Amino acid sequence: MIGSSLLQIAEKVRSGSVSVAELTAYYQQRIQQHNPTLNAFIHVKESPESPLAEATPPSPLHGIPMAHKDLFCTRDMITSCGSAMLKSYVSPYDATVVSRLQEQGAVCLGKTNMDEFAMGSSNENSYFGAVANPWNHEHVPGGSSGGSAAAVAARLVPYATATDTGGSIRQPAAFCGITGIKPSYGRVSRYGMVAFASSLDQAGVLAPSAEDCALVLQAMMGHDPQDSTSINESVPSVTEKLDHSVRGMKVGVVREWIEQLQDAEIKAATEESLRQLVDLGAELVDVSLPHAHLAVSAYYILAPAECSSNLSRFDGVRFGHQSDQAEDLQALYANSRSEGFGQEVKRRILTGTWALSAGYYDAYYVKAQRIRRLIAEDFKKAFSHIDVLACPVSPEVAFAKGAKSDPVSMYQSDVFTIPASLAGLPCLSMPIGFSQGLPVGLQLIGRYLDEASILKLAHQYQQVTEWHQCIPEGYDD
Ligand code: GLN
Repeated sequence: MIGSSLLQIAEKVRSGSVSVAELTAYYQQRIQQHNPTLNAFIHVKESPESPLAEATPPSPLHGIPMAHKDLFCTRDMITSCGSAMLKSYVSPYDATVVSRLQEQGAVCLGKTNMDEFAMGSSNENSYFGAVANPWNHEHVPGGSSGGSAAAVAARLVPYATATDTGGSIRQPAAFCGITGIKPSYGRVSRYGMVAFASSLDQAGVLAPSAEDCALVLQAMMGHDPQDSTSINESVPSVTEKLDHSVRGMKVGVVREWIEQLQDAEIKAATEESLRQLVDLGAELVDVSLPHAHLAVSAYYILAPAECSSNLSRFDGVRFGHQSDQAEDLQALYANSRSEGFGQEVKRRILTGTWALSAGYYDAYYVKAQRIRRLIAEDFKKAFSHIDVLACPVSPEVAFAKGAKSDPVSMYQSDVFTIPASLAGLPCLSMPIGFSQGLPVGLQLIGRYLDEASILKLAHQYQQVTEWHQCIPEGYDD
């Protein structure tokens, strides 16, 4: 193994002990060997471009291979979004995230598998087939960024981009035993990200460690005039304070969320990780989020409502698959959409259209907006006396493929991730142990725009634990 973390690999490139060409060939070989089992990539580049000239100051990402979730628009590859609708779509421009990483010298090896239009928690909704979890191939890697998570966990790439609308970075990170960060809403440009629910979608990173995530996030953050929701504020360093002590940091704990956990091993790992935070000098403070139990219900009105509007552009004329079975324009729209979208996407478009229609709008959409506000207020109150909130990522570990055929039980797997999404807060997931041989994650949520504190706490935890260094058997050579 060339190195199990991005930083180790960057060090080797810098010292000259491995060349960019050797590094690229090494990861290409790993992808070729393992992708047939994992199905983590939708598209693998045959001849990845050499990195752009070294930036000044030099970037640790220079010459390091990586992959993009297949919803970031790329000029030189198809952007399918995991859908038959876009299976041959090539964007005329690059997403800001893609061009920013390219400017730092990132070497993109391909595009990763995902739930169709980022809707799902298992990656089973992809037109390109399910992804296998490298820890157990019969189990899911989580979703919707399951391809990126499986690729990083199996060390097919040192890091990958991902997006999170209601948990799609944190839950796959937890299921695959790696670290993943979703920054505050507005921190990273959404320009060139195929939209699912625009008020929630946010780009982030999946990598082995918090330090790796910080290095990549640093290059992605910052104002972009092309995205009107991107924040026009100076970007702080999220790497500078990683080594600072967390002594005295107030970490909020929602006791009832931990009590609720049915899986004894997840519960024990969570409690143990909190004890370790205390050993590092953090102080635990009980907090309550009285409206958080309404988050899943509100999200499954708001996200489908926004998706029904965003996905209207895929009509076979402006964008997407065009049916050849159409006698008139109306039939062309209907047939193109019927053929191009999968079942879960159709379910959400129907739910969203219904929630936005006259007569239901006030009862559902407006009510869900109010709940969203109440949840944001709950967090605001909690953050008046804590610095970071620690809680579970998921009520269970990676489940078996096919285990959740009922959509509502799938939706329930987002119960701990959706609240922070509705409030637009930065949050991450880091590995803290195992249950039934599968990884368990802990979620850290920060104040709005305070990515630095959650990364610092995670990094300090990773200085005294080794969970983030565990690599699944068969991938550790
Ligand atoms: N699992 C959630 C959903 O299906 C979240 C997806 C996401 O964050 N993109 O909507």
